[in-house]
Amino acid sequence: MIIQLHPEIAAAQRSRIGETVAQFGYDAKEVITQHGIYWVCVGTAGFDIRRIGALAGVKDVHRVDAANKLVSRLWKVEDTIIDLGNTIRIGDGSCALMAGPCSVESEEQVADTVAFLVQQNVKIMRGGVFKPRSSPYAFRGLGMEGLRMFAKACRAAGIRIITEVMEQEQIDAMYDYVDVFQVGARNAQNFNLLDALGKTDKPVLLKRGLSGTIDELLAAAEYVFSNGNEQIILCERGIRTYEKAYRNTLDLNAVPVLKEKSHLPVVVDPSHGIGLRAHVPHMALAAVMAGADGLLLEIHAQPEKALSDGQQTLSFAEAASLFSKIKTLEMVRENWMDLWQ
Ligand code: PEP
Ligand code: MN
Repeated sequence: MIIQLHPEIAAAQRSRIGETVAQFGYDAKEVITQHGIYWVCVGTAGFDIRRIGALAGVKDVHRVDAANKLVSRLWKVEDTIIDLGNTIRIGDGSCALMAGPCSVESEEQVADTVAFLVQQNVKIMRGGVFKPRSSPYAFRGLGMEGLRMFAKACRAAGIRIITEVMEQEQIDAMYDYVDVFQVGARNAQNFNLLDALGKTDKPVLLKRGLSGTIDELLAAAEYVFSNGNEQIILCERGIRTYEKAYRNTLDLNAVPVLKEKSHLPVVVDPSHGIGLRAHVPHMALAAVMAGADGLLLEIHAQPEKALSDGQQTLSFAEAASLFSKIKTLEMVRENWMDLWQ
């Protein structure tokens, strides 16, 4: 059960609600976010929830028979929209584009990418400065110095930044330069990191774990929300299966299923999802028609020279061609809205 409280609830009303919840044998955890005060109540007894709804100070109450409650559609029917300011939004029915290199490499690379994104009217740039790499000898990112340079170029162009945070100790230093914190697939169950991001007020994009299930992705989101941050984006980026013909198996089933289960926006990363440059556009377009609220794409002026993930990175020409096809599909999708309702 989720009880939403009025923002100006009086102390006596709070106590009365607490007593009633306890009387029914439920344990309550209070969650205060940017947008509301929630009590997540766990218990088994059956009772008429109108008894709670009738109490002064209660804004709304719903039974949520799902393990991951705050992220569930069972209490919040309308879609959550992530508002990055200046009309830049994720989850508003459009397909938000987030594009940039796998890794931030140099001032010149960032400047070239920013110029390209401005020309393409893409408002969110991705780029890793703390890189989780399978080999300790591979390029592991430019760190904070790279992030400051990345932020300066993007701020000047009105572009928002999404970048990966690998550990909770990095959050404070990164905070001023980041618009969306990305949690990578390898950290999908780093519960201390998720707790800490729940205590910030910036949006968090959660990648699905390397072999993560839908419920595990929702549980990661529940960690963030239950710590006080409800600005969360779910990201399908492919899972490890027995298939070796491509880097991962992009599970587009996840898009409609996550959107049915959760009110949070769902975006797709076809670059890591298939890992093959030639087929990234196919899967990106398929993701749009599956209902994705956005795409996270790796692009580079010279993909063959990229310091990481060049094999799955689109050139600017390939990206421009894909963006225009996405626009066409968005119009098709708008006419078929009944599919997603
Ligand atoms: C990335 O986005 O560059 C990245 C490392 O992604 P993932 O965590 O999905 O592997
Ligand atoms: Mn990458």
